[in-house]
Amino acid sequence: MGNINIFPSYKCNLDCLFCAGGGKEGSKDIRDLTTCEIIKKLDDVVDSNSMVAFSGGEPTLRADLTYLIQYASDKGATILLTTNATKLSDFNLASELVDAGVDIFSITLRGHNAKFHDYLTQTKGSFDRTFAAFKNLSCLRDNYGYRFAIHLKILVSKPTVKYMPQIIELVSREFPKPYAIELTGLAFVGNARGNMDEIAIKLTDAVPYVRKTIDAGKQHGQTMRVMDIPPCILKDPSYFKYYKPWDNPQHYDDVDEEYTSVNIEYEEPELIKGPQCRECIKYNECTGVTYSYAKIFGFDELKPIINQNE
Ligand code: SF4
Repeated sequence: MGNINIFPSYKCNLDCLFCAGGGKEGSKDIRDLTTCEIIKKLDDVVDSNSMVAFSGGEPTLRADLTYLIQYASDKGATILLTTNATKLSDFNLASELVDAGVDIFSITLRGHNAKFHDYLTQTKGSFDRTFAAFKNLSCLRDNYGYRFAIHLKILVSKPTVKYMPQIIELVSREFPKPYAIELTGLAFVGNARGNMDEIAIKLTDAVPYVRKTIDAGKQHGQTMRVMDIPPCILKDPSYFKYYKPWDNPQHYDDVDEEYTSVNIEYEEPELIKGPQCRECIKYNECTGVTYSYAKIFGFDELKPIINQNE
C-alpha cells in the first residue's frame, strides 16, 4: 500500500499561463476517470499510512469529489487537496470538503493584486474568489475547531518573481495566517509549455528573489518552505533549512532510473536529479528539479555540495 495522486478532472475553470494541464480545455488525450475507477485505485493502494493527493485540472469541478475524499479519508489516509479554491468561495462547499476529511488544502495565489492575478489566470474575478475561499477556510479552521492545514503556494515564474515579496506582504496583511507558504518551481507541461517564453526563468536567476521572499516571510513570522529549487541553487547555506520537498527524495534519482512513485497517469518522473548529484552531501534529502525543467535547462546549474559550509 502507498501514496497516490488522483486527478479527478483534467479540466479547469481558470486558464493559467503556467498551468501544467491544459487550462480550461483540459487534456485532449486523457479522459477523466469514472467514480468507480477512482474507488478501485483507492482500494488497491490506500491504507491508513497513505497520503492521497487530489489535484488536476481543478478537482472541485467534479460533482463526486466530496464522496471520493470521504471514501479515502474513511480508510484513514491523509488527504491533500490541491485547488485554485475559486469554488470554495461558496462556504457550503468549503465546509462539505472539510467535513469529508481534507487534511491539507494547497492553494496557489498567483499575484499580489487582482489585476495581475487575473491576468495570470486569464480569468476575471479569480483573485476575489480565491481570496473569499481563503477567508471561508480560515473561518472554519479558526472558529469551528476543525483541524486542517492551509498551504499557500507561490509559483516561481518569470512574471511573478519580482512581486513575490509583495505577495507575502499581502498575505501577512489581509489573510489569516496559513500553516505554510510554499515557493515552488514550475513544471513545463500543458499550458506552461506553450507559454515558455513568457513564464520560464532559470532557477539561478530566480533565486535572489526567492531569498528575498523568504526574508519577507520571516519578518512577518510566516512559515516558509521551498520545493523543487534544490539547495545547491539556493546556494547560501542559511537558506537550506527552508528546503522541504514533499515526496521521498529516494524516489528521484538520475535520468535512467525507474520512477517509483505511484502517480497513475504520468509515465515520466515529475522530479529528477543529475548524475553529478551522487557526489552531493544533500543527495538523500533532495528531489532535484522538475523533469520538464531539466529537459529545457539541463543539469548544469546543479553543483554538488561537498561540505555543509560551502
Ligand atoms: S547537486 Fe543535486 S543533490 Fe545536490 S542539492 Fe543540487 S540537485 Fe540536490
